[in-house]
Amino acid sequence: VFEDVPTAVRSIMQSNRGRDSGPEVAVRSILHRLGLRFRKHRRPLPGLACQADAVFPTERVAVFVDGCFWHGCPAHGHRPRRNADYWRAKIERNAARDRRNDRLLAEAGWAVVRAWEHEDPALVADRVAAVVQARRRT
Ligand SMILES: [Zn+2]
Repeated sequence: VFEDVPTAVRSIMQSNRGRDSGPEVAVRSILHRLGLRFRKHRRPLPGLACQADAVFPTERVAVFVDGCFWHGCPAHGHRPRRNADYWRAKIERNAARDRRNDRLLAEAGWAVVRAWEHEDPALVADRVAAVVQARRRT
C-alpha cells in the first residue's frame, strides 16, 4: 500500500512506524533529566489496544506522543490524495481508538497526557511533570 503514497507522506509514515521516534525519545529524555522515573512502551491497562510511550504506574499517568499523520493532527492534516478513502478511514479509526483508550484509562483512574509529535518536547515534558506531581499530592 505504501507504493501509492507520495514520497513526503511515506517518509512521515516511515518515521512513525517504529518505536522510539524522535519526539517520543526527546520527551522521555527530558522527563528523565527532570528526575522522573517511568516505564516505557507499557500497556497501562490489561487489554488496552495500545502501549503508552511513558507510564508512571504509581501515579497512574499514561503519556502518548501521537504521530501527526497516523493520529490525524489538525495542524498537519495532510491526507494522501490517492486512496483518500482508505487513508481517511484508517486515520479516523486510529483517532477513535485513541478516544476510546482515553476513556478506558480515565474510567480506571488514570490521567492521560496526549501530545502531538510536532509539539516542543520540553513543553510536553513540563505538562507531564505537572500532572505527575499533582497526582503525587493527592
Ligand atoms: Zn502535527
